[in-house]
Amino acid sequence: MSEKKKAGLKELSPIDIYKLLPKINCKECGVDNCMAFATKIVNRELSIDQCPPLLKKENEKAYAKLQDILKPAVKEIIVGVGDKAKKIGGKLVMYRHEFTYKNPTAIAIDVTDEMSEQEIVSRVQKTDNFSFEYIGNTLKLDMIAVRCTSGDADKFKAVVKKVSETTKLPMILCTLNPAIAEAGLMAAPKARPLLYAANASNWKDMAELALMYNCPLVASAPNDLNTLVSLAKTLMAYGVKDIVLDPGTFMNEGLGDTLNNFTMLRRAATKGGEELAGLPLMGVPMVAWVDKGETADDLIKWREAYIASMLIVRYADVLVLHGNDGWSLLPTTVLRQNIYTDPRKPVAVAPGLKVFGTPDENSPVFFTSNFALTYYTVASDLDTNKLNAYLIVVDTEGSAIDSGVAGRKLTAERVAEAIKASGIEGKVKHRKIIIPGKASRISGEIEELSGWKVQVGPRDSSEIPKYLIEKWQP
Ligand code: SF4
Repeated sequence: MSEKKKAGLKELSPIDIYKLLPKINCKECGVDNCMAFATKIVNRELSIDQCPPLLKKENEKAYAKLQDILKPAVKEIIVGVGDKAKKIGGKLVMYRHEFTYKNPTAIAIDVTDEMSEQEIVSRVQKTDNFSFEYIGNTLKLDMIAVRCTSGDADKFKAVVKKVSETTKLPMILCTLNPAIAEAGLMAAPKARPLLYAANASNWKDMAELALMYNCPLVASAPNDLNTLVSLAKTLMAYGVKDIVLDPGTFMNEGLGDTLNNFTMLRRAATKGGEELAGLPLMGVPMVAWVDKGETADDLIKWREAYIASMLIVRYADVLVLHGNDGWSLLPTTVLRQNIYTDPRKPVAVAPGLKVFGTPDENSPVFFTSNFALTYYTVASDLDTNKLNAYLIVVDTEGSAIDSGVAGRKLTAERVAEAIKASGIEGKVKHRKIIIPGKASRISGEIEELSGWKVQVGPRDSSEIPKYLIEKWQP
């Protein structure tokens, strides 16, 4: 039984870690003493490998114990190799308010071996090139799922070869037939794809392939958690170390079971310390396309997107989707970004002066808060309208304008200080600042404290161009 399980999964304290450190306060780790290092370890800011004395032979046992204590509740598994590698799982907790989630849900887009070469290449390139800037982050897709629908091993092998030559992303090879799976693996023998899937009938052959090609393996038992866990146990006993669990994804009346199964597995791993449940979870929202009949494609894509969203929130570590339109992928990738940020830290940008276009001494000066969503919205409105302007970002500790004013994070004092610190006085000859409409309550105080004339701007930054035409006079 692991140390963590013996301790009843109680919260780790720095003392638990400190007890096993060399306790010589040598500072080789870059912090002042062993206790400070232990605190950073508990907060996952440093790793135990950064303590050189701990890596010495005489501390072997303590190092092993620490590794066990710090092991995440959900195993981290690597799909792909080198630059293509993608980590999945590695979760420490069930809820994101307990600790930041690690390794955002990997999203794979499928191709099949019955698609034309042109369609395969186009889908792969579209997946590789998907990129969307969202509050300072680039949203991307993560994997290509190559599905065998033809039942033809040679066809599958050729398509896996084509995909592996085309994509920069890791692959998931999907077939329940071990002979076909082997043909696919032979086409990319060193690619370490995720192999989908071992079930109660084929597990031995799939396990052999996973061991032979050193690739992670999905264990699949749709809506049958007992079989799934016992399958994972059997695979582990056979020597397969990197296993992903697929408890099944179902539409309509099966949606409740789907979410319950994901939740039960993650709860068992994080709250119950069950190591067999402590494996990454795979969801397959593309089941929305099964038996679609006459249903319009756009409706199916919408259904697929909402199942994907539900599963991102309910602990999925990897998802396979078919729809690849920007409009259906954007909500999913934006939600993922939001779920995987640190809930303890406001999403903020650095305060200071930002320059848009080529402003001169007569250009308008705005201010906004350093809440990332506010900043990037204003920045995008200035950028896309090709405005020449200065924008002073005030440190509001990550609060938006209205909540910042209400919560005293955005005060006239802070605005006046930000104006002074920005150096704007040496860049423009006027002394006028356009403030967000939502900060109008503090306009008088800003004027008083900064000595700048305040113009109350629009409440919505999309109206800035119109506002400047109508109201800006340097
Ligand atoms: S390197 Fe290790 S022994 Fe030295 S201060 Fe840091 S934690 Fe302590």
